[in-house]
Amino acid sequence: MGTADRRKFMTQSAATVGLAATAFRAAVAQTLDEEDRLPKDQYGMRKSVQMTSPVDEFPPSRDKVRITKLETMLVKPRWLFLKVHTDAGIVGWGEPICEGRATTCAAAIREIESYLIGKDPRHIMHHWQAIYRHAFYRGGPVLSSALSGVDQALWDIKGKLLGVPVYELLGGPTRTRVRVYAHVGANPALLKEKKDQGFTAFKAKVVDVTRSGIVASPAFISRAADAFAALREAGGDDVDIGIDFHGAVSPPNAKLLIKQLEPYQPMFIEEPVQCQNVDVMAEIARGTHLPIATGERIFTKWGFREILEKQAAVILQPDLCHAGGISEVRLIAGMAEAYYASIAPHNPLGPISLAAGIQIAASIPNFLCQEQVNLGDGYLKTPFRVRGGYVDVPVLPGLGIEIDEEALKSHLEHDWENARYFDREDGSVVDW
Ligand SMILES: [Mg+2]
Repeated sequence: MGTADRRKFMTQSAATVGLAATAFRAAVAQTLDEEDRLPKDQYGMRKSVQMTSPVDEFPPSRDKVRITKLETMLVKPRWLFLKVHTDAGIVGWGEPICEGRATTCAAAIREIESYLIGKDPRHIMHHWQAIYRHAFYRGGPVLSSALSGVDQALWDIKGKLLGVPVYELLGGPTRTRVRVYAHVGANPALLKEKKDQGFTAFKAKVVDVTRSGIVASPAFISRAADAFAALREAGGDDVDIGIDFHGAVSPPNAKLLIKQLEPYQPMFIEEPVQCQNVDVMAEIARGTHLPIATGERIFTKWGFREILEKQAAVILQPDLCHAGGISEVRLIAGMAEAYYASIAPHNPLGPISLAAGIQIAASIPNFLCQEQVNLGDGYLKTPFRVRGGYVDVPVLPGLGIEIDEEALKSHLEHDWENARYFDREDGSVVDW
C-alpha cells in the first residue's frame, strides 16, 4: 500500500470509527436512560441490560469472522474438551476443566455461549475481560477453568487464521525445545522406566500422605524421606526430582520433612502447605534452601500477586486450564520474572492443556519445566515425543496440534470423581 493509499485508508477508517463511536455513545445514553424505565416483572426484577461493544466490529476494514458454536465433550479419563466453531471453517480447541468438576465446567461453558456466539474470536483479551468481569463474582475454580478453556481455543483459532503458532503472536519463539517431567510416585522402578523413555525430570509424591496427621511420628517422616532417597539413588544425581506435598501435610510436618529431604536436593517442594496459607508458606520458604513451588490451585494474576510479594515460592505452577488460559499465564510469567521466579505449568490433564503450556514455554524467558501425564497418544494425529528430556516446540499454527477426532470417538464420556479420604483411626476428613 502506497502513502496516498494508506492516508486514504486511514481517513476512511477514522471516519468510520468516529461515526461508530458517536453512534455507540448515543446508544449507551439511550440504554442507560431506558434501563431505569424498564418495567419490573412479578419478582421485582428488571431484565438485565445486554449492551454490545464497538470493539466487536473493530477494525471495520477487515474480513468478518464469527464464532458459531461452542461444543463440549467429556473425554476419558477425566477431561473436558471444548471445540469452538467459526464461520471461517476453522475450529479452536481448549480444555475448560477443573478436575472432578467436568460437568459443572460444561454448564459454565453453556452460560458463556450467549455472549460468545456471533463475536469475533480474534478479540481474545476483550472477551477475557468481558467473561471474567461480567460474571460479577470473579474467578474461582469453575469459572476460571471455563474461561481458561475458552481462551486456549480462541488463541488456537487466531493462530490458525494467521497461519502461525501462538508463540509467534506472543513474541516468540524463546526456545526450540521444552523440558517436560513425568510422575513417578514413590516407585524407583517406575523412575528408571521413565528415564529409559527419555525423561530427565520427575515428580515424586509423599508416601502415605493421608496418614501424616497433624504432628507426624518420627517413623512417618523417616519413611517419607527414605522413599525419596530411594528415588534419588535410582535416578542418580544427574536427574531432577521434585516432590509434591499436595498441601496435605500440616505446617509442622512440612518443616520436619523438608529438613530430612534437604540432603537429597529435590528439584522443588511443591505445595508444602495449602496455597491459602501464604504467610506460612513464606515462613517455610525462608527456613530452607530448597525451592518452594505452588500454583495449581491459584487463579489469575490477582491470585499469584501475594505469593510473589511475600516470596512464598520461587517456582510458580499456574495451570493453563485453571489460572485463566494462555493470556493470563503469559501475564503471570511477566509478574514472576520481575521477582526472579520461574514458571513450571501444572498439568495433570490432556494434550490440549499440554500444547497450551508448550506455547507458553516457547514465548517466555523464565520457563523451568512442563508437567505432563499424556503426550497425546490416542488423541493427537502427531503426539509429542520426548528426547533427552525435552519435546520439540511445534511449528503448526495455533496450539500446534491436530486433534484426531476419529480416535477421540473411542474416548468419549466418563464419570470420574475426586477421591475421598478419612483418617484411618478416627474417621475424620483428611486431605489427599
Ligand atoms: Mg501438585
